[in-house]
Amino acid sequence: MQRAAGAVVGAAVGDALGGPFEFGPRGAFSARFPAPGGGGEMCGGGGWDPGEATDDTQMAVLVGESLLERGGLDLPDVFARFQRWAASEPKDIGLQTEDVLTNGMPWDLAAALHFQINRRAAGNGSLMRASTSAVYFAAAGRDATMDAARRIAALTHGDPAAWEGTAIFHELIRVTLEGTAPLTALRDVLALVHPDHRDRYATVLAPDWEPDRATEFNGAVWPCLGSAVWALRTTAGFEDALRAAIDLGGDTDTVAAVTGSLAGAYYGLEAIPAHWTRPLHVPLPGSGGRVLQLADLLRLARQLAERRPRERER
Ligand SMILES: [Mg+2]
Repeated sequence: MQRAAGAVVGAAVGDALGGPFEFGPRGAFSARFPAPGGGGEMCGGGGWDPGEATDDTQMAVLVGESLLERGGLDLPDVFARFQRWAASEPKDIGLQTEDVLTNGMPWDLAAALHFQINRRAAGNGSLMRASTSAVYFAAAGRDATMDAARRIAALTHGDPAAWEGTAIFHELIRVTLEGTAPLTALRDVLALVHPDHRDRYATVLAPDWEPDRATEFNGAVWPCLGSAVWALRTTAGFEDALRAAIDLGGDTDTVAAVTGSLAGAYYGLEAIPAHWTRPLHVPLPGSGGRVLQLADLLRLARQLAERRPRERER
């Protein structure tokens, strides 16, 4: 339960911590906060209040609440919640996600059509929101959690590369909740990736890969996941992993959200600094002005971890 809470809250903390540094240069975070543990890092800025979570966490909450309220994976319901949220002027929304949610197509065609037209749809927008579904489906086992990841990803991302990256993340969270160090599971997880996509993920998840070697901006799914795993690999604690992730610059909220989820699951909830969780809050546009606080996120995480997914999903 500590690990499940760590996965959900860690993602939200990373998102809120990285939000103000989005599209900034490398090293901006440690230039402003040179000493770990110094405090004040939940600083806000760029339109975000201190501790305010961005679209990454907002969408993760929407997925988690759908799973709980529908008693399993109800893809049209998740899509409808995304649409209601997207129509309520969230402060931020991914370009691709916005296009898919507002193109007027039904839930099972919108992303595919977008991919057909644009051909480039491997953003990190399905990976960024996967902490809640990863916790929920962990109990269903390896194949079920990876399958669920692909299907939820496909709601907004027509490119199978995004599905596979999200499936890898789901499986890494599953093994971590079981007590396996995620870095030791990478080789086994890669064997489960669709052969068409295995090589690219093997590259960014290799032990010697560094974000400097990325061939795309870290708003793409491959370097985003690779950078999160790199941040976990090259540090020894939750706080340092998130500092490393945000210091990469670029899509800092999402890279830090993915890092925070993996690190939170690995190190557990108690490893997340209290001065980071205290100001944390998640506004939910389209939900009647609701704003989730830490206690709400903890309740959500507990319910997701306790509720067993149905045997048969619709
Ligand atoms: Mg964001």
